Amino acid sequence: MLKKSIIIGMMCVSVVGFGQTQCKGTTKSNVQCSNITKKENSLCHNHDPNHVSASKNKGETVICSGTTKKNAPCKSRTKDKSGLCHNHRKDK
Ligand SMILES: [Zn+2]
Ligand SMILES: [Zn+2]
Repeated sequence: MLKKSIIIGMMCVSVVGFGQTQCKGTTKSNVQCSNITKKENSLCHNHDPNHVSASKNKGETVICSGTTKKNAPCKSRTKDKSGLCHNHRKDK
């Protein structure tokens, strides 16, 4: 019984190993990305657009998409999901 479970465990590990593929994305120098990924779309966290947007919401700041009274783009940075700084969120 014990031996069987060890064999099954080893099989599981090897299946996970085969599930890993090289990222389909290319680097800035047009070389295939060497990162290994388990994702279905074969894109690592650097190339997967979904992953990038998720990490942005976690803490990276973006420049406010609002405009000033002079109709110039707002230069304030914000972490808010709306992409608006605290000055422009207040207005609404
Ligand atoms: Zn990649
Ligand atoms: Zn703003």
